[in-house]
Amino acid sequence: MSNDSPAPVLPPIAKTNLLGMTRQQMEDYFVSIGEKKFRAQQVIKWIHQLGVDDFEQMTNVSKVLRQKLAEVAEIRAPEVIHREYSADGTRKWVLKVGEGSMVEAVLIPDGERKTLCVSSQVGCSLDCSFCSTGKQGFQRDLTTAEIIGQVWVANRSYFEDEPLMEKRERALTNVVMMGMGEPLLNFGNVVPALELMLDDFAYGLSKRRVTVSTSGVVPMLDKLGETIDVALAVSLHAPNDALRDELVPINRKYPLKDLLASCRRFLARFQGEEGGRRKITMEYVMLAGVNDTPAHARELARLLRETPSKINLIPFNPFPKSSYQRSSREDILAFQKILTEADYICTIRSTRGDDIDAACGQLVGKVQDRTRRAERWQSRQENDNNNNSREIFRSAS
Ligand code: SAH
Ligand code: SF4
Repeated sequence: MSNDSPAPVLPPIAKTNLLGMTRQQMEDYFVSIGEKKFRAQQVIKWIHQLGVDDFEQMTNVSKVLRQKLAEVAEIRAPEVIHREYSADGTRKWVLKVGEGSMVEAVLIPDGERKTLCVSSQVGCSLDCSFCSTGKQGFQRDLTTAEIIGQVWVANRSYFEDEPLMEKRERALTNVVMMGMGEPLLNFGNVVPALELMLDDFAYGLSKRRVTVSTSGVVPMLDKLGETIDVALAVSLHAPNDALRDELVPINRKYPLKDLLASCRRFLARFQGEEGGRRKITMEYVMLAGVNDTPAHARELARLLRETPSKINLIPFNPFPKSSYQRSSREDILAFQKILTEADYICTIRSTRGDDIDAACGQLVGKVQDRTRRAERWQSRQENDNNNNSREIFRSAS
């Protein structure tokens, strides 16, 4: 080659992203690069507990290993393209997950509790008739790194002022898989992310404070119960198959009888553990004139008789071009009363977040109902903690 020739451009060596690795995977990785297994515990703590993404800061790791890791590995979370911290403590991030794809993560504080609403897919293939994500269609599954990356970004935000300080009391306490997408249709990437949420060397969340929400993909629901112990929320929305077929189309494949049998199997696995007190949260969106009459409430009470359940009523969140209306406050209260009198714990989502939603919608129009979901969950927790039937509309709907 003559001296004038430009140096050949070599393709960059792809580095291994450590962010989405479970402890076991990380141990295997260290062994594969000729290092001791216990390094995995050290590195996982740096990444997830202390929010570190630079090997150089990992001071209990030898300098030689730090340099080696910097050459072959990286810790790469989705890029934060917008963040918003409001005075009431709510924090929102818009995360870029590839060209033109964005997801939003929302963290809602409530006293000691900090709940993060996490997405599992960009878009969703299940097309529930009242859901803006469904209307958007399915783009792709998020990777484990992109899923746990939402938790990493949120958790790390508490260390921004005081880097490398372990402030467990300030870190997030609850995760709900209620953002975009159907988590059970991205099982292979969601489960390792759940494992990291529960791992004491990573986020160490209680298994009762990590919730998977599903529209009812029955075979995967059974598989979830066999694989990992987390809390379960089921998007029910209708008390009979005819109506549920219309609202939640996956019901045509896995009708209510099969879904509820699967829910009971899920609970049966953990029986004895908590004296049989454990329940599944049934989510029920309140759509005016569609599923919100007293007759529907009575039918729902009968339907769930054999399945230990608590019910969360969600006032519908309208979005552009949606064809439904939110049920009136009176109708929601009447619906709740019937279920409470039938001995169910029945809560109502607060509407306090509507003003925040407006701002959120301006951030990423297509994921605008994420915030509402997180807030809905938050209010459910508030309700559970206080009075089961307490009505908590804080602003007029
Ligand atoms: N795919 C999963 C999790 C994401 S959706 C599931 O369906 O459970 C999270 C919750 O938001 C579900 O209960 C869903 O039915 C509800 N939801 C979707 N769109 C809504 C809307 N416009 N108003 C109120 N709740 C909605
Ligand atoms: Fe998908 Fe859940 Fe929306 Fe249905 S409600 S379209 S399953 S994200």
